[in-house]
Amino acid sequence: MIADRLACLRRQLPEGVELTAVSKFHPVEALREAYDAGQRIFGESRVQEITSKIEAMPDDTVWHFIGHLQTNKVRRLLSTRRIALIESVDTDRLLRAIDDESLRLGIVTRVLLQVHVAREETKFGFSPDELIEFFTSGAFESLRATHICGLMAMASNTDDTARVADDFRRVAALMADIQHLRPDLRGFDTLSMGMSHDYPLAIAAGANLVRIGSLIFGDRV
Ligand SMILES: *Cc1c(COP(=O)(O)O)cnc(C)c1O
Repeated sequence: MIADRLACLRRQLPEGVELTAVSKFHPVEALREAYDAGQRIFGESRVQEITSKIEAMPDDTVWHFIGHLQTNKVRRLLSTRRIALIESVDTDRLLRAIDDESLRLGIVTRVLLQVHVAREETKFGFSPDELIEFFTSGAFESLRATHICGLMAMASNTDDTARVADDFRRVAALMADIQHLRPDLRGFDTLSMGMSHDYPLAIAAGANLVRIGSLIFGDRV
C-alpha cells in the first residue's frame, strides 16, 4: 500500500524534485515499508520521535527535521549526529543555538530558513522583509558551523488555489531576490514547499523539495 502510493507519487515528481516523506506520528513499521520501497529521506517534527526512530531505522536513512524546534531541544536533536537538514529554522535565536551546538559537536548543520507567507497568524517563520534584512546585513557571515541551504515555506491553508499558488510564487521570488542580493552565497538552492494537498502548485512555482505525509502514509493517528 505505502509502496504503491510512493511509486505513484514519484511518477508525478519531475526530475530534480526531491521528496521528504513526512512520517511524523506513524509507526516505525510504516517507515520501514517506505524504506523498503526505496525512500530514504524522512521528515519528522518532534525531537523525541525522531530520536527514537533514528535508533530503529537503518543507518543510511536520511533525516530531516521539519517541525517547530525549541532552542532548549537543539542539543538533544543534534547530538544524534544524524540530522541531514533542519528545514524549519524560524528565528535568528534558533539559528545561533544551532550554530553554537554544531560548533561544539564539531559538525556542520545544514538548514533551511522558514518563511512566513501564509495569511494565518499561527504559522512560524521569518517574514520576507526580515529575511531580506538578514541577508542584506550579512548576519549569516558570522555563522561558523551552519550552512543555510535555502528556504522552506507553507502556503495558506485554503481551497483557494489562486491564493496558494500566489504564496508559493512569492517565496520563489524571495529566493531569487536573495540569490541576486548575495551572489556569493554558496549552495543556497533548496526550495522546500508543497505538502500532500498542494505540492503540484509548489512544484509549478519552483519547489525542488516537497514534504509529503498523508498521501504516502495515510491519515496520521
Ligand atoms: C506534517 C507536515 C507536512 C506534511 O503534511 P501532509 O499534509 O501530511 O502531506 C509537511 N510539512 C510540514 C512542516 C509538516 O508539519
